[in-house]
Amino acid sequence: MTLTEKDSQYLWHPYTQHKTSQTPIAISRGEGALLWDENNKEYIDAIASWWVNPFGHSNKFIADAIYKQLTTLEHVLFGGFTHEPAIKVAEKLMKILPKNQQKIFFSDNGSTAVEVAIKVALQYFFNKGEKRTTIIAFENAFHGDTFAAMAASGISFYTQAFQGMFIDVVRIPVPVKGQEQVSFEVLENVIQQNNCAGFIFEPLVQGAAGMVMYEPEALAKLISICKKNNVLTIADEVMTGFGKTGKTFAMDYVDADPDMICLSKALTGGTIPMAITTFTQEVFDAFYDDDINKALFHGHTFTANPTGCAAALASIDLLQTDEMQTNIERINKNHLEFQKKIESHPKVITARTLGVIFAVEIKSDSEESYYGSMRTKLYNFFIDKGVILRPVGNIVYILPPYIMTDEQLQKVYKTIEEAIEMV
Ligand SMILES: *Cc1c(COP(=O)(O)O)cnc(C)c1O
Repeated sequence: MTLTEKDSQYLWHPYTQHKTSQTPIAISRGEGALLWDENNKEYIDAIASWWVNPFGHSNKFIADAIYKQLTTLEHVLFGGFTHEPAIKVAEKLMKILPKNQQKIFFSDNGSTAVEVAIKVALQYFFNKGEKRTTIIAFENAFHGDTFAAMAASGISFYTQAFQGMFIDVVRIPVPVKGQEQVSFEVLENVIQQNNCAGFIFEPLVQGAAGMVMYEPEALAKLISICKKNNVLTIADEVMTGFGKTGKTFAMDYVDADPDMICLSKALTGGTIPMAITTFTQEVFDAFYDDDINKALFHGHTFTANPTGCAAALASIDLLQTDEMQTNIERINKNHLEFQKKIESHPKVITARTLGVIFAVEIKSDSEESYYGSMRTKLYNFFIDKGVILRPVGNIVYILPPYIMTDEQLQKVYKTIEEAIEMV
């Protein structure tokens, strides 16, 4: 039996209708921005394997750090114990996070980072004896697939089977160009009409919605409205964190600091699943009490796994090298040139760039759904050409590893241009 045949016998894949989907491609190795399948066909990983891998596949520097940690202390429970890798991660993050972030809580993935933030927002007011049970989120948001994260997410086919079983979430429009004022007004109204505990948002770029972008000034205004009304703000930087937007965090562009930040994806350079939620001292203090019931009774078995911490430390070191910062600027420059080249194409609705993130919306005759026919056609075309891109409906985006070469990038651009001609 081939790997693919064995796969279909045993495995259940994410976001997959197994009856109608194509068989998965078995990847056997990776290096830099490249992956090879079992037949040795080469692919350019133009989306950094779901946005987790900025420094390239099979990165030796991170692998060495992981090996060293694995053979020193692979894991120890974090309830009642601590260790140097966790403390070092905290110290390192404190130096690069917005200054008001003072406490960090470890978990395992982006969804759990969000789950923790939402639970903390709700319990913060419970601990203060105030009844606030509503969470505010953007339309078309994506915050993950566990229950509270899913409730905050606004992409309907992810959540439709569970309607009526969620925590209270009210949605406000994203302040994209021209919609800023509407967004501010709806937020004001929502806060007046509900007992709002927190506002969760993807800062500046909504990833899963198709790299939808909005301006830092608009976000600063939304945060200031929340602050005025004592609503906690949660920046979900799971996708945007660690250089993707051209700064270390998307919040670095914004003239307002959130109360909490969620991190995962690139945190460990795409090696070991790990996530972090960070908090202000003020949030932490609402749980600090002689009353044990005011504690945060949340944890995961692998909390602060030392091996994950070692991977995170090595990843942040890599991010901070001049070489990596130059790479980010280089990719951004390339993206902007490509954007200029294709945005006037008759089949292009619009193109946009922020940092290493690029997206283009292609004209389509029909209303395009997330996993619609144009998407399938595009996806297959890219795979056939040896480029891994996962369009969202009629939106094609690139989010490359920072180490992708100019030559590889040009091949990705050329393939997208061909795809635009083809559909
Ligand atoms: C991917 C993502 C998540 C969920 O992370 P998982 O690790 O897949 O659970 C949450 N928020 C944002 C913004 C994401 O992009």
